[in-house]
Amino acid sequence: MLIEIKDIENVFHIPDPWYIHSCIFDEIKQQLDVYIKVDKDTLLSCSECGAENQRFFDIADYDRTWRHLNFLEYPCYVHAEHPRTDCENCGKKRRVHIPWAIKPRASFTKLFDAWIMMLVKDMPMNAVSRLVGEHDTRLWRILHHYVDQAMAHQDLSHVTKINTDETSSKRGHQYITIFVDSDKKNVIHVAKGKDAATWKTCKERLEEQGGHAKNITEVCMDMSPAFIKGASDYFPEASITFDKFHVIQEANKAVDEVRRNERKTCAELKNTRYAWLKNEENLTKKQKSMLDKLKDSELDTAKAYRMRLCLQEIYQYPAPIAPMVLEDWIQWGLRCRLEPMIQLAKMLKKHFDGVVQWFQSQLNNGILEGINSLFQTAKRKARGYRSDKNIIAMVYLLAGKLDFSAK
Ligand SMILES: [Zn+2]
Repeated sequence: MLIEIKDIENVFHIPDPWYIHSCIFDEIKQQLDVYIKVDKDTLLSCSECGAENQRFFDIADYDRTWRHLNFLEYPCYVHAEHPRTDCENCGKKRRVHIPWAIKPRASFTKLFDAWIMMLVKDMPMNAVSRLVGEHDTRLWRILHHYVDQAMAHQDLSHVTKINTDETSSKRGHQYITIFVDSDKKNVIHVAKGKDAATWKTCKERLEEQGGHAKNITEVCMDMSPAFIKGASDYFPEASITFDKFHVIQEANKAVDEVRRNERKTCAELKNTRYAWLKNEENLTKKQKSMLDKLKDSELDTAKAYRMRLCLQEIYQYPAPIAPMVLEDWIQWGLRCRLEPMIQLAKMLKKHFDGVVQWFQSQLNNGILEGINSLFQTAKRKARGYRSDKNIIAMVYLLAGKLDFSAK
């Protein structure tokens, strides 16, 4: 079949009134240059007021260039005339919209952008940058544009439950807080820091996108005072569930502290740390045989370990009796004479309502575990350019379930 120039225009997605004037393969630069002109008799829309059928006025730029999808293995550049209209409606002389690019000053065509967005989901940005031969700051700009646009169109009117957790964004002590819609299981907000103010920005974001703070009936989080304050200040209608993984983590910390104190006087506890902290099904053979030998002993560590197992089992109880069982456990803890376990019991007493709320809400931050691993991936993908802004955009891209087709 003979390929006609019109076919090539379709292949390159060049719409009327633009037409391909020439295609030149530059052997030195090893690139394809597609030169496009505009039909000066066609009527165009005014980019200022949108009035249609405005007469061509002049060419503002004779050679605006956009990088397009590769032609075979060669980079391809579209060079086009950029006309202006002299609008009868608003009286302004304006450059017309360019249909193949997101904005007039963009360096890439929309198809090139789409290719980049596909690649960054699977590759670190610096690898994408090397592959396509473009500086990464230009590529980050593409990512931010589409993520910002999709977020601006995200509908959060249905959100009634929120899971929250913080995670470190960089080495050292910089944190971001991630808010997830418990039902749709997608990230709806990411805030820098881990203080109460992160909840304020979550509320603002929710309300900007059609949601309402008073619609939020449940939140799930750890026992940090800042989160409790943030949730109560900005989502006063919501019941708080303390995430059960955090509760068990606190119990593990207490067991570990008991072991550290006891190890100084007990040689048997040497190198046993992880055996006491893991769940039994995850133990190695060696750890299991050590634990079998020690777990029923009179050691303080063994006692604390048994207390942790009992606490964990409470989550298996039916909702009507679980609070009573927890109450008993707390009394046991308060009287046990192991300081770290006493502190744990006090903590559970203080946060009792939020701990037992789990039996109603069944919310846990398991979703955030998954998102956290996506987040760690995002950090790797942002390698070398770990500004919070870039990392946050990556989190939205990977876990926001955003609709990138939104206009
Ligand atoms: Zn106009």
